[in-house]
Amino acid sequence: MSRLLKRGKISRIAGPFVIAKEMTGSRMYELVKVGEDEIIGEIIRLKGDTAAIQTYEETTGIRTGEKVEATGKPLSIELGPGLITQIYDGIQRPLPEIQKVSGERMQRGLIPPPIDLDKLWHFTPLLKNGVKVTGGDILGTIPETSLIEHKVLVPPNVSGVIDDIALEGDYQVRDWVTNIKTGEGEIKLTFSHEWPVRRARPYKSMRLSNVPILTGQRIIDSFFPIVKGGAATIPGGFGTGKTVMLQTLAKTANVDVVVYVGCGERGNEMADVVEQFPMLTDFRTGEPLINRTVIIANTSDMPIAAREASIYTAMTIAEYYRDMGLDSTIMADSTSRWAEALREISARLEEMPGEEGYPAYLSSRLAEFYSRAGRVTTLGTDERHGSITVIGAVSPPGGDFSEPVTRNTLRLTKIFWALDFNLAHRRHFPAINWLMSYSEYLKELDRSSYDTLELDWRRLREEAMYLLKEEEKLREIASLVGTEILGDKQRAVFEAVKMIQEYFLLQSAFHPVDMFCPMEKTARMLDLILKFHNRMIKAVEADIELSKILSLSVREDLARMKIVKPEEFNKASLEIEEKISREFDELLRTGVE
Ligand code: ADP
Repeated sequence: MSRLLKRGKISRIAGPFVIAKEMTGSRMYELVKVGEDEIIGEIIRLKGDTAAIQTYEETTGIRTGEKVEATGKPLSIELGPGLITQIYDGIQRPLPEIQKVSGERMQRGLIPPPIDLDKLWHFTPLLKNGVKVTGGDILGTIPETSLIEHKVLVPPNVSGVIDDIALEGDYQVRDWVTNIKTGEGEIKLTFSHEWPVRRARPYKSMRLSNVPILTGQRIIDSFFPIVKGGAATIPGGFGTGKTVMLQTLAKTANVDVVVYVGCGERGNEMADVVEQFPMLTDFRTGEPLINRTVIIANTSDMPIAAREASIYTAMTIAEYYRDMGLDSTIMADSTSRWAEALREISARLEEMPGEEGYPAYLSSRLAEFYSRAGRVTTLGTDERHGSITVIGAVSPPGGDFSEPVTRNTLRLTKIFWALDFNLAHRRHFPAINWLMSYSEYLKELDRSSYDTLELDWRRLREEAMYLLKEEEKLREIASLVGTEILGDKQRAVFEAVKMIQEYFLLQSAFHPVDMFCPMEKTARMLDLILKFHNRMIKAVEADIELSKILSLSVREDLARMKIVKPEEFNKASLEIEEKISREFDELLRTGVE
């Protein structure tokens, strides 16, 4: 269809929304250029020859009667080396300077290249002329950053025979890399290609994952674990430690790529994140975390359409790295702000509002997004696995988890890490409430999911959970009838739970040793605390006074376990175990005398 047919005229402007007539030949989600300034917009409704367009820039100064030019393309982003370390807005416009994020306007109609076009990348080919290739095959590699080896892939929809391929050398991102001979002729490929953000990138198959992500956070790894390809919801009330938690997970979890999507309340809040992220250090390598991070930033003063698009842009980038066989994680903070953008767009389109003003399609949009997460066998001749994990913060107004965004998100994700204002207030961090939270991936994980783990962490978890629940019950009883009626055995439960909370669950994100706890150490710490508890119960049954038990010096060793370096912990743990036996034996002997 000729481009001329796709020209129309603005008939109405309502804030960031434009109605255009004479748009015959246009398609849903087609990208258009609006007005003489050619600001970027996307068709989000089509009726006859009338299109409703959401614009990604301010429409001030644009008048009815001005042209609308169609591009024939859906909203797409450019994928290639150079994405990592970038800070983008929701439609992949780079925001290199922090001032732009905190308010300075971008020039209208400007679509700067998303990747530095001048930068040279060192390409090493892996395939030769005459080789048959299909979408997903690795043409060669490029060291993208100190942490990411970029695989130059045959795009998903291309297959044929390599006719010519670039020699090892330095190239720019839009340079030619190969010619592929197909049934319909030759296809010329460059180091980057475009992909429409609203369309999921294909893969061979998706399977339920039983590969845990090791986060180094004790409460997560042992109580509410997450798997590669999983999805988690975190409600993010102010001050509950959501930002620290996301940053800690970005630093410590064993994933390859982090795509951080910030939908901030205010410009400066987002500016903080954008400023802080590049300064963080990757825990495992000591390299800058930004060398495996892409940031998508939206503030409330940026056009809401870009916020609506941002999660798709993030997902497409995550899929691109997944396709290389890497584990990507999307951290979205917060999806409630995204849902609000959806609500506002729907209201402007005068659609019938659903629950709390959100459009009826809120749940299907959320489901579409979360269904793109998972662990997959990627396209390509070789068997390769990659994953996308989503950790989505939600901010339920007033902490009400029954509101539509939280409720719909909880239906789609198998993990709920419930951040608790009261725990945060007591400065118990991470403030994950152990009674409200859950992980349905527990079913998928057993001892064999962890290479070197000797202890049965599931049994330890169950024992610890039982005590935590028991304590809650006792607390309720005590609040009704007073603590006096509690015997030493019940008091011992309180003490054991205090130890689990303080010595185990409480974990500083800022202590150089405590900020990361390997799974072996996590399981062994719990094991020792429970061993102490078992001996404590037996001692109480033998009529030893609780106060004497609580003054045993091994309790100090248990309290200090978290700051013992992992490489020294094996030896230390044997000493602690021996000390528990010795001190309790001694107590029983002297207690009986
Ligand atoms: P939110 O983003 O939910 O508003 P923050 O992540 O900024 O909250 O956390 C608020 C404060 O709580 C932090 O400045 C820090 O002092 C403390 N905090 C949060 N998590 C931890 C943690 N794991 N270890 C130590 N302190 C923490």
